[in-house]
Amino acid sequence: MTAADHSSTIGAPSTAPADAGRPPGQGIVVDGIRKSFGDHDALAGVDLHVDRGTSLTLLGPSGCGKTTLLRVVAGLERPDRGTVTLDDRTLTRGADVVAPEHRGIGMVFQDWALFPHLDVAHNVGYGLDRGDDDRVRQIENALDMVGLTGFGDRMPATLSGGEQQRVAIARAIAPRPDALLMDEPFSNLDASLRSSVRSETRTLLRDLAMTTLFVTHDQGEAFVLGDEVAVMRGGRILQQAAPDALYEHPVDPWTAAFIGDANLLSGRAEGRRAHTAVGAVPLLDASHGERTVLVRPESLELAPGGSATVTRVEYYGHDCTYHLRIGGTEIVVRSLSAPEHRPGDLVTPAYVGGPTVTYDAT
Ligand code: ATP
Repeated sequence: MTAADHSSTIGAPSTAPADAGRPPGQGIVVDGIRKSFGDHDALAGVDLHVDRGTSLTLLGPSGCGKTTLLRVVAGLERPDRGTVTLDDRTLTRGADVVAPEHRGIGMVFQDWALFPHLDVAHNVGYGLDRGDDDRVRQIENALDMVGLTGFGDRMPATLSGGEQQRVAIARAIAPRPDALLMDEPFSNLDASLRSSVRSETRTLLRDLAMTTLFVTHDQGEAFVLGDEVAVMRGGRILQQAAPDALYEHPVDPWTAAFIGDANLLSGRAEGRRAHTAVGAVPLLDASHGERTVLVRPESLELAPGGSATVTRVEYYGHDCTYHLRIGGTEIVVRSLSAPEHRPGDLVTPAYVGGPTVTYDAT
């Protein structure tokens, strides 16, 4: 039985229409959510928050619990423990759950699920109260908001992928929800369309000041879409932060490597610098003794000659990646110029980045 089969016993349905000039409020707050399937802890105590009017992307590898968490926030899944609140309304407290249709939350799924036999206006109006005199105006407003004015009588099959995506968003925002949930919303667009549609979506949601929780397993997408990103692994949130803070100060070596290429080098720290295979590296925090030092590939530059051997060169047009070996250590270097070194060349890497983080040596 799903939560939708139960009537609400807590909270109150959303009656106040949302608008771009919202008063400040809490947004989505997830506190201590646990959910097991048999003896598997899909969610092992999840805390996160999406500030009102901002977006958060939930990023994690397959099976880490992203969709389960989204379903808990949507009211489609009952957790074993924990609470979900939205703008000070408690929507979930343990198994006590406000039904999805009364939560004031819109949803956009992976496949967008447009009805192929209904025109755009009927797709957008699907979730609206049938007796509402304002229905036509609400549909037109929603289409205006996503830049599809005048598309009401078009059939889904005659729309581009990007336009279909915008119809799905229009349908989700037409009832003026207080928050939006989006589960891998761009995964069935081809690569070129994907990048433009996600930028458009980002701009649209920012203009609407819509509190939005995205789910993705794509790091680039997570960084472009989220004011903040929450990294999830094994049913837990490891870190929630703005994309730049996350990239520069990942909480542990796994997160560092998951959100980008990372050289995790052995180093001997002496205060605010560490001695590593690429020479001295400045540190954010003073420490002493053996540490693991995070060195991003773009923080290194190569000079010809030396004791490091180039083992592989990958040229992508916009940048070039060198793989090096220094003693027993493999190192990746990223350069914006066209290839200047070839496999077999001897080079010297030098650190040119800012102060970085270290971890306990493994
Ligand atoms: P993906 O990115 O592959 O969609 P995910 O991070 O969204 O993965 P979930 O779908 O939330 O992961 O699943 C988390 C874990 O819980 C997985 O091990 C999954 O097999 C398990 N799980 C999810 N739903 C159920 C269910 N209804 N019954 C049993 N196990 C489930």
